[in-house]
Amino acid sequence: MKKPKVGFFEFTCCEGCQLTVLSLGDKLLDLFESVDIVNFREASSYKGQDYEIAFIEGSISTSKDIERVKEIRARAKICVALGACAHLGGVNAIRNFQRQSDVRWRTYGDKAWLFDSILAQPIDAVIKVDHVIPECPIDKKEFLRVTASILLGKKPFIPDYPVCVECKMKGNVCLFHKPNPIACMGPLTRAGCGAACPSVGNACEGCRGLIPDPNLSAWEEVLKEYGLSIEDILKFYHMYNGLMGVRR
Ligand code: SF4
Ligand code: SF4
Ligand code: SF4
Repeated sequence: MKKPKVGFFEFTCCEGCQLTVLSLGDKLLDLFESVDIVNFREASSYKGQDYEIAFIEGSISTSKDIERVKEIRARAKICVALGACAHLGGVNAIRNFQRQSDVRWRTYGDKAWLFDSILAQPIDAVIKVDHVIPECPIDKKEFLRVTASILLGKKPFIPDYPVCVECKMKGNVCLFHKPNPIACMGPLTRAGCGAACPSVGNACEGCRGLIPDPNLSAWEEVLKEYGLSIEDILKFYHMYNGLMGVRR
């Protein structure tokens, strides 16, 4: 049987999500048995252009990126946003809330004029995205589960309930209720990571994006009760969900 051809592509990011795919171990060999990987810079110098499924990592942050991601979309039947940078704009979008001339100077110094830099955007700001594999970095099991569903022609399952559900199922004491409370974005954030951060005492910062219809005003009121300012609250959104303030 003819195997579907798959490409992996990177835009502005750390490429940690592709690295997660490469570190699948034996499961990567299983993946190679199911698909032909024709484009994957971290794994091979071969650059095939005849792919049907494109996994796209990173945010769009130059005009050339816009042209390139549109070319990928034109070739692929299915485009998948791989990780928080592609899904949400991710950490790259933090700079959208700073003065761009300062950001460019800090990054490129007096050579800034050589670089074609625009505000960081998720890929769905430019092209139609068929599926999303969230998180920073992606979760190996979720990557395999979503990829298997795509190959079977099924709609991949991604949880639409908040991280708090997984946190409670683990029996964690809520960070808001600790003797030294820590503000947490779990009530707004899409589950699927097993409440990875709160389970080790760190706040959820929203890397999987927001649930459908999050109760933003209730969460913000709670944060104000804990003494956080509007600026503190905005910092939560800006970490991963900055482009629109709120993206789902
Ligand atoms: S989502 Fe995180 S791990 Fe993946 S490319 Fe972006 S910054 Fe790197
Ligand atoms: S620690 Fe965070 S994720 Fe866990 S229950 Fe509290 S708010 Fe929700
Ligand atoms: S707890 Fe929040 S920030 Fe941490 S991995 Fe899960 S979604 Fe991402």
